[in-house]
Amino acid sequence: MKSGNAILSSYGTTIFEVMSRLSEEHGAINLGQGFPDDGGPADVLAAASDALLTGWNQYPSMMGTPDLRQAVAGHAKRFYGLDVDWKTETMVTSGATEALTACLLGLINPGDEVVLFQPMYDSYLPIVRLAGGVPRFVSLKAPDWSFTRADLEAAFSPKTKLVLVNDPLNPAAKVFSRPELELIAEFMLRFDTLAVCDEVYEHLVFDGRAHIPLMTLPGLRDRCLKIGSAGKTFSLTGWKVGYVTGAPHLLQPVAKAHQFLTFTTPPNLQTAVAYGLGKEDAYFTGLAAGLQAKRDRLAEGLRSVGFDVLPSAGTYFVVADVARFGFEGDDQEFCRRLVAEAGVTAIPVSAFFVENAPRSCIRFCFSKREEVLDAAIDRLRRRFP
Ligand code: PMP
Ligand code: GLN
Repeated sequence: MKSGNAILSSYGTTIFEVMSRLSEEHGAINLGQGFPDDGGPADVLAAASDALLTGWNQYPSMMGTPDLRQAVAGHAKRFYGLDVDWKTETMVTSGATEALTACLLGLINPGDEVVLFQPMYDSYLPIVRLAGGVPRFVSLKAPDWSFTRADLEAAFSPKTKLVLVNDPLNPAAKVFSRPELELIAEFMLRFDTLAVCDEVYEHLVFDGRAHIPLMTLPGLRDRCLKIGSAGKTFSLTGWKVGYVTGAPHLLQPVAKAHQFLTFTTPPNLQTAVAYGLGKEDAYFTGLAAGLQAKRDRLAEGLRSVGFDVLPSAGTYFVVADVARFGFEGDDQEFCRRLVAEAGVTAIPVSAFFVENAPRSCIRFCFSKREEVLDAAIDRLRRRFP
């Protein structure tokens, strides 16, 4: 019998699905897969519901509804001072996942090299490989997940087509500093490369930090495609509404991929996200402040149980190094044991690496109600008295 695509067949089921199903089986508290457990902003939900009942429910324009595209451009101006032409420089996708896929398929020719920072979100590499791209890795190391000029020298070459930058970075919870972004910019200009910027956590940055889109650095405006996600910005991860912003010459090939991937995205959700992106500043600052408080609650709880907790500057996540528990197995095994024996689900960080993976780092998601975070800590305390 002939078999399926060799690249895709070489992958197992994604770690998020595996751990969520395992969590259900054990009746565990799921701090694995990254999703909030509250209802999301009521006014954004109401906008979707109104649009569903009274609005257009047929195919919207392939590039997205004008209201959402205008809102994406307005958001870029309001938060980053970027002048974006909504008609030629924005596109709506079915989640950031589709945006990433469309960007990679739209830009990569077989043999092009692609620079990827590890740890990396799990969909990047399979799509780079499907497109025929050749991955070149920069491995970031805990606890500070930093990189050096020498790391970039080793990864970039005249064959580099693009670099994929996830900032803030899942699962490391790192926010790239301006000097780090400037170093990436220097290499992009030197090797004439593009960047796909996965900035889905752009509003989830803590402790007064500012998110800096790579696109805003000198010389990079027309070299970057910036990806956002309503799932993260409105705590509605099931909605799968994403958006891409970039210069027309970059967006056009990406739109060619999008038209054959999903073509379009539910119009009522687009209308609601357009409304949401126009919300007052207090919504966006409140979102970050609320998550920062949850981060502190979970991090303190984990420390009190004896976990070695790494800094978290953004995202939904905090990483803990469990080496001090003296466990013999690796992080995958630790997480499996944790679900079964403590009733708490986490994600092994090695799942975000293909080489040089740390063996004792696990990721917890803190975008949960306080009582859920507290209950998880109670369970962990019972397991690690
Ligand atoms: N990129 C990163 C880094 C993520 O963590 C996620 C989370 N799901 C996505 C992309 C996908 O976002 P979406 O749900 O909008 O497809
Ligand atoms: N981004 C989410 C996480 O990192 C998961 C998304 C998914 O399940 N594919 O947990």
